Amino acid sequence: MKKQHISKKWSILALLLTLTQATVAFAGSQPSQIEQVIKNTVSAYGGNHLLNLKSLALEEKYIGFSDGQSTDPDEVDKGDYHVKVAVDFKNGRKDFRWIRGNKASYSIMHQLYNGNTGYRIDHDAKTKSQSSGLNFANVDRRHLYSLDAFLVKLMHENGTSAKYDGEINLYGDRHHQVSFQAEGYPEMTLYIDQKTNLVTKMKRAHWVPGQFYYYHYSLPEKAQHIQYATDTYVTRNGQPYSVTVSRRVQVKDLPDSYFDLPENYNDAPESLDFSEMSVQQIAENTYLAGKGWGFSIFVDVGSYFVAAGGYDGLTERYKAMKAFAGLDKPLKYFVVSHHHTDHLGGMAEVAKLGANFITVGEHIARIREMAETDLPDGRFITIDKQSNFFDGVLRVIDFPNGHSTHNLMSYFPASQVLFSADFYITRQKEGVPYGHSGLQKFKKLLVAEDIQVELFAAAHSGRVLTADDFEKSLKKTRESNCPQYWEICTAM
Ligand SMILES: [Zn+2]
Repeated sequence: MKKQHISKKWSILALLLTLTQATVAFAGSQPSQIEQVIKNTVSAYGGNHLLNLKSLALEEKYIGFSDGQSTDPDEVDKGDYHVKVAVDFKNGRKDFRWIRGNKASYSIMHQLYNGNTGYRIDHDAKTKSQSSGLNFANVDRRHLYSLDAFLVKLMHENGTSAKYDGEINLYGDRHHQVSFQAEGYPEMTLYIDQKTNLVTKMKRAHWVPGQFYYYHYSLPEKAQHIQYATDTYVTRNGQPYSVTVSRRVQVKDLPDSYFDLPENYNDAPESLDFSEMSVQQIAENTYLAGKGWGFSIFVDVGSYFVAAGGYDGLTERYKAMKAFAGLDKPLKYFVVSHHHTDHLGGMAEVAKLGANFITVGEHIARIREMAETDLPDGRFITIDKQSNFFDGVLRVIDFPNGHSTHNLMSYFPASQVLFSADFYITRQKEGVPYGHSGLQKFKKLLVAEDIQVELFAAAHSGRVLTADDFEKSLKKTRESNCPQYWEICTAM
């Protein structure tokens, strides 16, 4: 009886401590400058209303720009997006519903983190799969970074990591600069207006060294005691990345069932684990090496290697392949598939390894930019539509498609191996990928040119598909459908 009494007292004390967390943290001594800045910012965003939020939902339409990932290297494509991110702060759950596209053509994505485990939910195939790479911080594809109120809450929760980076004049007003680090998040720097105590800008690093994302928050509004920007404009490496079209923030409690997995969904086919470097010989003189999302093909052409698959980490793959094959020959030629930033991540390595670039003229500028070094014209060999190399050992085929205006496929006639990027892949243990119109067009080209492909290797997977798989894929089509129970689907 007595024991119970004590524990009750303690729980009341604990509750009081939680309720006054913000003040208690700074009690006893004068708050430091950083503590004062965080305190003022939190109170501008709703004080305890913000800190004690049980749940939050951000729904918005926005436009995204694909600088570096557009179909044409000389233009920046735009895309329509509609997203809803719901957060259950109490149980550490987060749900992410995303429509890419519009009525004319769209695809959807659904990811959920239930406090312990991350899931990808496929509403077309009616399957769910656990994903060890998903956590509370990234399950929404970092979308909540566009909500200033969420970042202020995050900064407060990680106040001990926060540091004051001095003042700066922004848009003509004095701003504080505060950096902080939360688990699972990149370091973020918030720019806080000294007059309003509102965040007007945030900075975080891009994976490309020396490049940054900037988030600009404007048109502040207050709803249900919570302050937030109704417009967020994001730039990446100085170029437009996304901009809000319309935004709605709800802080009313979401029903518990909101975070449930859909009923009667089967487990998705198992995925392959590419977390470790792997090398396989897929045909005579032909090796596929890679890990994560980056794979390269290396073909032994006699006194040197020719390769394709330009993700960063090329040197590591090259080394692993040479150790596996027991061969030490130089890399002399490298086929660049297309101009997208991720597939050019290894261009500095190609340059350093001394290989020549096989590409189209339209991509040279982007390759030079990513190679971080001056490359003489002699290092580039350009093709027009198709070219044969090394006495017919390699045939490079330019296949323009919806993904990029030029997309070079590397075909090795002796082994009938074709290596492609962002075109025909699967990362599943079994089964074949869905077909698409590009695949149908490619089939026509293969027939017209009388090209036999036995094996399909790709830049994003260690699984090699067969001619038989390809035929099956041509017949396997998918239709996107937006689930009836998603609010954002009814608004499309
Ligand atoms: Zn691409």
